[in-house]
Amino acid sequence: LFSRGEMPKDNAIVYLSDLEATMRYSLDHEVILRNAISGDALSALKSYLELLIEYFPTSIRGKKFLKVISEHMSNSESVSGEELGNFINKYELFLNPYVTKLKWIGCEGSHPMYRRYPCGLWTLFHTLTVQASTKNLQAFNGEQVLNTIAGYVKHFFGCTECSEHFMQMTTTIKNNVSSFDDAVLWLWSAHNQVNQRLAGDVSEDPMHPKILFPLKAHCETCRQNDEWNKTEVLAYLKRMYSTISIKQTPND
Ligand code: FAD
Repeated sequence: LFSRGEMPKDNAIVYLSDLEATMRYSLDHEVILRNAISGDALSALKSYLELLIEYFPTSIRGKKFLKVISEHMSNSESVSGEELGNFINKYELFLNPYVTKLKWIGCEGSHPMYRRYPCGLWTLFHTLTVQASTKNLQAFNGEQVLNTIAGYVKHFFGCTECSEHFMQMTTTIKNNVSSFDDAVLWLWSAHNQVNQRLAGDVSEDPMHPKILFPLKAHCETCRQNDEWNKTEVLAYLKRMYSTISIKQTPND
């Protein structure tokens, strides 16, 4: 077993396969389980799709797939999960939107009960904040990126405990996030608070202990005398979750 602080360095590699598996599960499982989606939940779903369209690092077919789903819902005031599921399945067959085989790679645990989708969601959310910060488009600002992530977590993340904890944390977004870079750092800090709370919990994969991320082994300059150097942390996260660093397979 790896003791805390001696984690393998490759724990900080992002795989497209995890991102695609997460995106698919988020739509094809979490969303379609709802009977009727309307009101705030529908707005949250529409916004989530917009965020994916702008920032998910996908192929042209993947983008087309997301756009088709978004357009399908654009004039509706209520959609049923089942109907949406059928629509999504039809266009998955038609457009073949995924580049990878949708296997868990970076998020695979030492046992199927560990990691996977929740790990994939964090990975997806960090990727979206970093992509937004890099692309600097007008469609969303930093606060809106986080509010969209929060909307998805609130209405669709099947882990109710996770959702409730996360929503408590989101009250600090308004006063602390005014740029895309702030959003990257806010999510990093929120994730570290969750890591700290869950260290030693039964849900922790013993092969992937919860740590304050990144370790010195990941980023030598991110900590100085036990204090975070946020400029270095930001630069590190922007490298780790950038399109150029995302791998398709471990052999890339
Ligand atoms: P994860 O914590 O899922 O991290 C995935 C990867 O992200 C890591 O391997 C690492 O490469 C990277 N990473 C780690 N920390 C950071 C950071 N600070 N910044 C950037 N990158 C980082 N489980 C509960 O039991 N209770 C909860 O209340 C709870 N709340 C959650 C809230 C949200 C929004 C999400 C998405 C998940 C939540 N979970 C909760 C699940 C939990 O946080 C883990 O996702 C799960 O235990 C799997 O952990 P993991 O070892 O795969 O690493």
